[in-house]
Amino acid sequence: MERLSSKLAIGLPDEPLVWCPGCEQLHRFNVFSPNVSTGAQWQWNNDTEKPTFSPSMVIKIGSQICHSFLRDGVWEFLPDSTHALAGQKVPLPDLPAWVTD
Ligand SMILES: [Zn+2]
Repeated sequence: MERLSSKLAIGLPDEPLVWCPGCEQLHRFNVFSPNVSTGAQWQWNNDTEKPTFSPSMVIKIGSQICHSFLRDGVWEFLPDSTHALAGQKVPLPDLPAWVTD
């Protein structure tokens, strides 16, 4: 992985990765090519400090649902998310230290 800022890396494959504090894991936004399994693709404002991706993202991890917008560097977790941050707005955290280039 390659860090482009304290908030955003590129990798796995070459797509933006950011930290989700709701799921406590990296989330990947496919912006250059569609996700091979779901076909999902997003638009990115190319900002590595305060990224905006659209449309919203839905991730299912087991029985957990994470439904969010990331706009201007702020996560907005929609109420149908099942983790502790549902219904909250949370600034995009720095990537964890183990994400290195
Ligand atoms: Zn999440």
